[in-house]
Order: sequence, then structure tokens, then C-alpha cells
Amino acid sequence: MNKRAHLSPEFVDTIPATIEQGKIYISIDFATAIHSCACGCGMEVVTPFSPTDWKLVFDGVSISLSPSIGNWSFPCRSHYWIRQNQVHWAGDWTDEEINAGRANDRRSKEHHYGIGTLSSTSSKKTLKKPGFWKRWFGWLIN
Ligand SMILES: [Zn+2]
Repeated sequence: MNKRAHLSPEFVDTIPATIEQGKIYISIDFATAIHSCACGCGMEVVTPFSPTDWKLVFDGVSISLSPSIGNWSFPCRSHYWIRQNQVHWAGDWTDEEINAGRANDRRSKEHHYGIGTLSSTSSKKTLKKPGFWKRWFGWLIN
């Protein structure tokens, strides 16, 4: 498989029928982006934008997504970040970064689906803190 190091953003009105590898299609109307998994496996990765999902940063030239893309449900189990059109593979990270990313991902998923989050040590305030901020914080300190 050919791992991508780069994705070209295309702003579209509707999601195209054919998703080309190496491109990321962004629909502001639908608040969603879609791209073909950067590992080259051909799976389509849909990243909805919302306060509890992904955030898109467009700097006029390139796009960045946060948090990371963790394709845990695909056979390839790819994990990467898209920053300024560049694909940063989790394999390129230090162990510390990977662990931080995994913890963030797990926390946000748990928060999102409301499962397995509240151990006996969690205070009731945990529930009120939006995962959004936790994730942003995790992103900023990485
Ligand atoms: Zn893949």
C-alpha cells in the first residue's frame, strides 16, 4: 500500500461520487470532509465537523484537521494527523505522543458515546465538562 504524505484540499458543494486518493473534499454546507484513507487501502474516511467531532483549520492555502484521524474500524487501523495538508503518521511519533493521542481519542469517544467514562473516582463535574475543551487542550499540549 502507498502511504500518502500529502492531501490536497478541494472545497466542494456536494460530496463527489468518486473520491480520488490524495485529495480531501470539504463541504462547508454539509460541515463534512471526506478522503480516501491515507494508507492507500481505499476506505473512505468521513470527518464531520462539529464541536464534538473534527475541527477544520483553513489558513488560506492548506487545511488542518483535529483531532487525529484514527481509522480503528478499518482493517488497516491507520492513525494519522492532517496538518497543513501533510499527513503525519502516528508511526512517526514518539511513544509519548502516541499514548497522548490514544488517551485523547479514547476520552473523546467515551465522552461522545457516554460509555465507560465514569469510574468511581470521577466526580460529577466530569460530566459537565465538554469533551470539546478536553480535546482542544490535548491538542494544544501535544
Ligand atoms: Zn487505510
